Amino acid sequence: MITDTIKRFVGQLFKSRTQGMQRISREKHGIDRRNVSRHAIKVCEVLQHEGYQAYIVGGAVRDLIVGLEPKDFDVATNATPEQVRALFRRARIIGRRFQLVHVVFGQEIIETSTFRAPASESQETDDHGRILRDNEFGTHEQDAVRRDFTINALYYDPTNEEVIDFHQGVEDLKKRVVRMIGDPQTRYREDPVRMLRAVRFAVKLNGTIHPASKDPLKGMADLIENVPASRLFDEMLKLLTCGHAMDCLQQLRQDGLHHGLLPLLDVVLEQPGGAAFIELALDRTDHRVRSGKTVSPSFLFAALLWHQVDLRWRQLIQKGETGIPALMQAADSVLDEQTEKLAIHKRFTSDMREIWFMQPRFEKRLPKSIWRLIEQPRLRAAVDFLQLRAAAGEFDSVLAQWWMDLANADDASRAAMIDDLSRLPREGGGQAPRTRTRRRRTSPSTPPSDHGNAPTVG
Ligand code: ATP
Ligand code: MG
Repeated sequence: MITDTIKRFVGQLFKSRTQGMQRISREKHGIDRRNVSRHAIKVCEVLQHEGYQAYIVGGAVRDLIVGLEPKDFDVATNATPEQVRALFRRARIIGRRFQLVHVVFGQEIIETSTFRAPASESQETDDHGRILRDNEFGTHEQDAVRRDFTINALYYDPTNEEVIDFHQGVEDLKKRVVRMIGDPQTRYREDPVRMLRAVRFAVKLNGTIHPASKDPLKGMADLIENVPASRLFDEMLKLLTCGHAMDCLQQLRQDGLHHGLLPLLDVVLEQPGGAAFIELALDRTDHRVRSGKTVSPSFLFAALLWHQVDLRWRQLIQKGETGIPALMQAADSVLDEQTEKLAIHKRFTSDMREIWFMQPRFEKRLPKSIWRLIEQPRLRAAVDFLQLRAAAGEFDSVLAQWWMDLANADDASRAAMIDDLSRLPREGGGQAPRTRTRRRRTSPSTPPSDHGNAPTVG
């Protein structure tokens, strides 16, 4: 009897959360249409004019309701990808796992997807329940069920300015609760990346993960290992560039989700010096993101892995290897280890190498080699990186500033700056020059001269 009553009560509770669709008026959701991308509005209007349903959906609606600036705008519609493409001059169908249309307006791309059908028997999954392919179209309501969190399943109609909400997402959003739609364990199994997304959204909204969605995280963390490395990289990049990177990493650690994400991050965060450096790097990244500036993924990953590279470099030097070749070897071994789990794109790793390899070249200022350095395409990033090292106390800040000024100067001023150097005492020999680097005793970038393997400049 009692169990029946409890069952009925729980059933009613569950029902009350999944019951029907709510239409939320402008006064209640508070979205100001002026903050909505006019291109996204255009896509909706064109589709609606042709008799289709079309809404702005996902992160943009979520962010607009809480007063954040959306990163991008997505549209959901009942028109098929072919039907969407036919309506726009610059539109292309993309994607394998699920086809969608990119409608292009100059710099802005409006990602337009067709309503999806719910997870079904016919869906192809791997041995762990992860969905491999799903290309079935569905109804509006079904599309909402397929989305991850209630706060991400909100649909904004720019024509009547209503938000359509099937899962009380607006209510959760006002309470800043990240709640999985459906059974959290099943949904995490279908796509383990959702665990990382839960953490990211909770941090970004300064909210919490609903207990039922949070509890399974620790036990299911290992499933992240089955996620393809390239997908993990994309998600990790989103996490690191969401404007709250350090908070996200700390939260991931607390929820036991950080293992295997960036394997060396564990080690680095546990090294006192390493943690400070990473905190600085992430802090700067967060500031850039929050003030609307772009962030370079290569710079960010170069910073995250620098101390590991530095450590290996030092070890190699102790074994008698020489300066720059040892640095290259250290970089290779760190990157090999990382990319096994997290596929850092090749275009990024080559930039990261350049940023790292230029570091020892900043130690001494010999005119001929300075001119050669100036020609390097990644000089600006490498000099920025040097600033970071200076801020972390591992490089002389006056010298770091000199390089920054040089990177910013025009050719004539550069020539004058380099010319001025001849009036300074020679660096690296005899008397200590005014701008000599503050050197860590064990740094491989400044090995004791009796090793005879100091990384040479140029
Ligand atoms: P942001 O763009 O700020 O990272 P977002 O919520 O827009 O956040 P996207 O990755 O752009 O995230 O996805 C757009 C929408 O697609 C989400 O809001 C959500 O509704 C749905 N979605 C994305 N990834 C998943 C997933 N793994 N499982 C279910 N739904 C998802
Ligand atoms: Mg988005």
